[in-house]
Amino acid sequence: MTHQTIYRGSVFEMARRQFEGVADLLELSFDERDRLLYPKRAMAVTCPIHRDDGSVAVFEGYRVQHHLTLGPTKGGTRFAPNVDLGEVAALAIWMSWKCALSGLPYGGAKGGIAVDPRALSRKELETLSRRYMQEMIPFVGPYTDVMAPDLGTDEQVMAWFMDTYSMYQGRTVTEIVTGKPLAAGGTFGRRDATGNGVAHLAARAMQKIGIDPKSATAVVQGFGNVGSVSAAALAKQGLRIVGISDHSVALHDPKGFDLEAVFRHLKQAGILKGFAQEAEIDPQALLVSECDVLVPAAVERVIDRNNAEALKCRIIAEGANGPTTPDADTIIDARGDIFLIPDILCNAGGVIVSYFEWVQDLQRLFWDEAEILKRLYEILDRSFEQVILRAERMGISNRNAALSIGVQRVRDAKRTRGLFP
Ligand code: NAD
Repeated sequence: MTHQTIYRGSVFEMARRQFEGVADLLELSFDERDRLLYPKRAMAVTCPIHRDDGSVAVFEGYRVQHHLTLGPTKGGTRFAPNVDLGEVAALAIWMSWKCALSGLPYGGAKGGIAVDPRALSRKELETLSRRYMQEMIPFVGPYTDVMAPDLGTDEQVMAWFMDTYSMYQGRTVTEIVTGKPLAAGGTFGRRDATGNGVAHLAARAMQKIGIDPKSATAVVQGFGNVGSVSAAALAKQGLRIVGISDHSVALHDPKGFDLEAVFRHLKQAGILKGFAQEAEIDPQALLVSECDVLVPAAVERVIDRNNAEALKCRIIAEGANGPTTPDADTIIDARGDIFLIPDILCNAGGVIVSYFEWVQDLQRLFWDEAEILKRLYEILDRSFEQVILRAERMGISNRNAALSIGVQRVRDAKRTRGLFP
């Protein structure tokens, strides 16, 4: 960009650096680079709500649509205190490469509100969710931009989004968001799709480097939708889950955790803290503890230049978006002893089943769970093989292989369509 950009911050900088690396690799012309990287549209809104005590609070919300070259944009909505425009833009950019890698007819999008959802009552959360969707109505639509859950949002928030949009349209528009409850136009398999995909690809990686799941161990950072489902699915394959964490505590037990007991505790307490005091460990120490599979499934930039050298895992299965910084990537590449499944491949299960949900909602024709899972694993396997093949053929990292496939596909679509007018 020759002029100043509104997209700032460490997460945006990370997406930009990754893109520049891949653009060099693909020998993209400088004319094409800005057009590929910078988002098509961005919207910032203020969402005022009445709090339970009668006062008025105002929250800032964002939505970024990265490109519309291949179809509508698609992406999650994040409710978290540190959400800002740069972070949302970076996540939208990653969604574009992810959708293109999976062969989905979407551009990437992302949205969010700078709020700690845990500090709101349920009624306040509903009011804020509805107000945010109402502010977004001129900007989104089933053929323009389709939302989904992300950090701090869930099926219930998606149901409120869908209901609010539908009320303004005067008809039910289930296809406006994905990740809805089954009772409101959702699909089988969406809730578990990301975590199941992470575990499926971790199994492929174990097979590739010769690890027997029955004698393997895993550490999972983050125990929300993605982390908890990944942990359960890995345990089902026979892995011992020796480390888990959430925002409240990190726990480590070499004997492995009884996940059923963990889920019972979570149902009651809402957080991991209090589950096993004797197993508490420093969260940083958990990340570098010995295991076969490390699943970062919480927030961005947790594996960085300060801990990458100390990692003692053999596989990193990136459940979260952007958990590894470019500096850490350089260290991991140089070490050469860790098989990394990059985020845009590893956690694509969520957007793939979201795509199935959108297609089913548009057609009003629903598939059974077996059909969903068969199609999901077919796409993930295809992408996994394409990434490994490109990484081996070009002698590049799995991340650069995955990103370069995604970027190249968007580039090809833009080239073919030409530049309007
Ligand atoms: P979630 O809100 O359901 O869960 C997040 C979990 O991370 C919670 O357990 C929270 O306590 C924990 N956490 C937050 N900060 C932490 C920290 N500093 N250390 C340890 N734990 C921490 O969110 P989610 O939907 O599971 O999303 C997690 C990650 O996966 C995000 O990066 C998101 O963008 C990515 N992702 C989600 C989906 C999806 O379908 N939900 C799809 C693809 C990628």
